[in-house]
Amino acid sequence: MSSYTKQEVKQLVDGTLAWDTVHQMISMPKDADRYKLYMEVIQDKLSYKHKVIMALGPHLNLAIRDGDEEIHAFCDCGKDFGHYKGNWKLNANIYVRDTAEKMDQVYPRLMSPDTSWQVYREYSCPDCGTMLDIEAPTPWYMVMHDVKPDLKTFFEWVGIKAPKKI
Ligand SMILES: [Zn+2]
Repeated sequence: MSSYTKQEVKQLVDGTLAWDTVHQMISMPKDADRYKLYMEVIQDKLSYKHKVIMALGPHLNLAIRDGDEEIHAFCDCGKDFGHYKGNWKLNANIYVRDTAEKMDQVYPRLMSPDTSWQVYREYSCPDCGTMLDIEAPTPWYMVMHDVKPDLKTFFEWVGIKAPKKI
């Protein structure tokens, strides 16, 4: 089993780690401290007090809310998107690319999907404007709920005591 430093994990998160090392890290069995170091690196980048327990995306994390210890989804800016069992996207700003003109903003004409078959939904933070996710469903499809983590099993797997309110 390989072992990596916090600096290497930080470089992995920042996208500055050499590809050979990245390949080795993702190919080999994970070191016992990987989760702890990963969470420390993410936490160091944030200004809020909530304790991060899982990354949902580059700028969205699950964290134990300071005060009541409920687990919520938070943007990097601190915007609370609600309890982790709910769908955070329902508290985001949603921009729907559902016309050829809107697709022209991201693709050359005739290189984008036919919007009668597929649209893009862009989810962003109402407080800081950071784009948090994009999905590409058929126009009539419901807002997708990407992740419903089984935190009890997850913390058993990483061998760490689970938060109180999972
Ligand atoms: Zn934000």
